[in-house]
Formats: sequence, structure tokens, C-alpha cells
Amino acid sequence: MKRYILLFGWLLGASLSFAQTFPTESLLNNGDRSKLINIVVLGDGYTAAQQDQFKTDAQNITNYLFSVTPFKEYKNYFNVDIVKVPSNQSGAKHPATATDVNEPVIPASNPDNYFGSTFDYANIHRLLVPTKNATVASVLASNFPDYDQVLIIVNSTEYGGSGGAYATTSINASAFEIAVHELGHSFSALSDEYWAGDVYARESANMTQQANPSLVKWKNWYGLNSVGVFQHGTSGNQALWYRPHQNCKMRFLGVNFCSVCRESIVEQIHNLASPITGFSPANSATLTANSNLNFALSTLKPVPNTLEITWTLNGNSLVTNNDTYLLNTSSLVSGSNTLVAKVIDKTTLSKSDTHPTTHQYLVSWNIQYTPCPDAIVMASPIDNIPAGTTTKKANKTVKATNKISGNATNVIYRAGQAITLEPGFSAENTTIFTAEVKVNPCN
Ligand SMILES: [Zn+2]
Ligand SMILES: [Zn+2]
Repeated sequence: MKRYILLFGWLLGASLSFAQTFPTESLLNNGDRSKLINIVVLGDGYTAAQQDQFKTDAQNITNYLFSVTPFKEYKNYFNVDIVKVPSNQSGAKHPATATDVNEPVIPASNPDNYFGSTFDYANIHRLLVPTKNATVASVLASNFPDYDQVLIIVNSTEYGGSGGAYATTSINASAFEIAVHELGHSFSALSDEYWAGDVYARESANMTQQANPSLVKWKNWYGLNSVGVFQHGTSGNQALWYRPHQNCKMRFLGVNFCSVCRESIVEQIHNLASPITGFSPANSATLTANSNLNFALSTLKPVPNTLEITWTLNGNSLVTNNDTYLLNTSSLVSGSNTLVAKVIDKTTLSKSDTHPTTHQYLVSWNIQYTPCPDAIVMASPIDNIPAGTTTKKANKTVKATNKISGNATNVIYRAGQAITLEPGFSAENTTIFTAEVKVNPCN
């Protein structure tokens, strides 16, 4: 089928080139694409012979990205893949038409690269932009449709990059820093904290016209980690806009993201990926608990792990910070029970007021408990009885291969028809164990 489409595309020319597929390769694989945040990296201006260099550049930038807070702490939430798209010619276009510098800063050039990446976008020399947006979109659709974030690396050593839908960077010595800065724009819609020009002034997580420290959107950080309310300039539009920090990566390369930008990125990570990637047993139907049940979550853990996991049965908190919970039937009420696992990321990187509610993750199970079912089956280790006094009652049968610890003082199995103690069952001589068959065993 794929061959047919390719042939068809070839016959009709470029209009159907959207069906073209390219080799993809994983650079960071933390799991299921449908559950994690997928960064896809495209190269532009790399010829077929330069694809190994593209992979190396992409790997180096990936390694750097995940050394920067808060991407570092949330690396487990991401996959990174590359799509190897060969350009006919090497490098970025440079029309030498910028008006912010004395052109030509570097020689004018017009290589036949795949995504039309060019310097001098909007007459700004360092603005490096892939101009063939439809081509980028079609390559993504045909090769990696389940992406969340795109990074385009352009094979030029000249300083440049851009944000927008596709974070773009050259391979200048500052490339790693440009890439992370541009991801700040593309991934989390952050503004520049330098004055980028009147047209870029807008309300965003790190830019506002609100000057009052008690009303500003980053008020929870005000006075902490050098966060304040700093005017962009003293005249014109610059006087109307404020930034949260004087030394943030959204202003200067080579410094950290400020606390406000870190929070914004962490919140976006939570918008895109739940820390709960799976759980067992399934909760689509009511569970029946005639004996103990094991419950488990699969979670994406930040490093260090800031997840708080709370298990609640019928509104009562049980245990905190375990991925698993062993539900003992002795803690159930007759009839319907609700077990809830709640996960909240207590990271200190976010002080968002909405975080505890918006980014609270719940799994809930309905459990039906009949104190006296027709049959009870108890197995080891889940139904082992570690201590105390326990009575297990069934209308008809009790079957046991569980172990009763010597710390259990008094254990009674009672049934209307039969009690079967099979190989594996054991009780110690410090426990009074009674197996009792009688009429009306549950009375
Ligand atoms: Zn230029
Ligand atoms: Zn910032």
C-alpha cells in the first residue's frame, strides 16, 4: 500500500509528496507515545550524506535540554525522536536583506534545503525560520503524527533561531542555549524577557501590564529567587510592560530560567502528560472483594520524586506515597466501597494556585463487599494474615492456601458446607486456629 502511494505521488509530482516517509530514530524513549510528551526533531539543510551529523547534533541538543531545570527534573515525561529528512543542498538560506545589521553579515546564499529555512526573516538577521510550513506539517503527518513539540535544527553555524509553532535553532556554538530558549516560546508560550519589539508585547506567563506586586500573575513568587516586577523600559510601549526577573534565560542565553518561567514549563508538562500512565485492576466494572485485593499505579516520577500518592477508602486516608496498596477485606464496609488513589506533584518548582486542583490525578475503584459470600478463596501472599484476630465466614465454602503468621492470636474460618486447607496453608503453634463447619455460619 505504501509503495502504491509513493508511486502515485511520484507520478503526480510534488502535490502528493505528503505521503513520503523518512527514517525515524529514537533518541530518548521513556515509554508509550500516547501517554508521554513527544518531541520530534527535524533537520534542515542536512544532505543525505550529513544525516549522521544531524543525529549527533540532535542528540547533543537533547542531552543539553534535559540538563536544564525544569526539563531535567521531568525527563521521564518525554520521548525524543528524529526524522531524517535529507535536503538537496547543505545550509540555511541567507538573502542578506536584514535591516538590523549591515548586510551582508555573511555571504548571501540560497541552498535548496527541504523546509526553506532562512535567516533575515522579517528583515531581522538572526531570525532563522523554516518558511515551508506546509512541508513541515506534511512531513510530521506522514512520519510522526503524535508529536507534541517540534524542534528544527538548521545546519548553519551562523547564530540564529525562532520560536512560534516550531522551535528552530542553528548549530552555532550557542545552539544549545538557543534551542532551549526557543522551546520556552514554543513549548510553554513564554515571552522574551528582553524587549523584542512592540509587536511581540502581549500578556503571557512572564509578561504583563500589571505592575502591582499583589495583583501580578506571578505574585506567589514575588520577593523569592529575585522575582520582582521589572519595567521593560522607561519610554514608549516598553514603559507599559513588565517582566518577572532581570536575569532569565528568556532574556539572556547562558543563565537559568527564572522561577516564573520554570513554573510555566512545569504546568505545561502537566497539561500534556499525566503522571499516572496505568493502573490495575481495571476500574470499568465493580470489583467483588471476597478476599484481599492488590491495587497498583504506574507513575512517571520526576527526579527527585515529588509525587505525593494518597490512597483513600470510603473517604478515609489510608497510606501515602506507595504505588501499590493491599486492600484487606477487614477494612471494607458491607455493600459498596470506593477506593481512590490521588496523585499530586508537590514540586517546589510550581506555586500555581490552580496546580493542586487542575493537576490532581485520580483513579477510583468501586468495590462490592459481602461479609458472608458463598465462597472465599484465600491465597498466599495476598491473603496471608500477619497479626491480630480474624474471622473469615462463607455461606458455603472456604478454601485456603494462605499462611497465618505466629503473630496472629486467634483466627477462625467458618463455612456452611466445607473448609479446605490445601498445600501452602500454614498456621503457627502460637496462633489459636479454628476451622468450623456449621449451620448459619454467618450468624
Ligand atoms: Zn542577514
Ligand atoms: Zn523568566
